[in-house]
Amino acid sequence: MQKEKTITATLVEFTCDCGQGVYRVDQNAKIIHTNPKQWQHICTHCQKEVMLAFPFPIIKHRGEEFVLAKHVRFEGNVYLRGEPNEGN
Ligand SMILES: [Zn+2]
Repeated sequence: MQKEKTITATLVEFTCDCGQGVYRVDQNAKIIHTNPKQWQHICTHCQKEVMLAFPFPIIKHRGEEFVLAKHVRFEGNVYLRGEPNEGN
């Protein structure tokens, strides 16, 4: 069974060159299956697009980096979005 406990962690944002926004994963974009994988991000301010090897924002705790489950659990579906066999 799952058990929860409260921890102290650090939220890590990736800031944009524009100095106004931070990069967030583009939910409509495909994951690029390089090694390491890359996620397409969009700046929250200027909409600049970049590829990053972590899906930001991430959480750091005791020297480990944690990513949001929604960015990794269903990557197959994300990968197929826009493909000819979408919906199968
Ligand atoms: Zn920006």
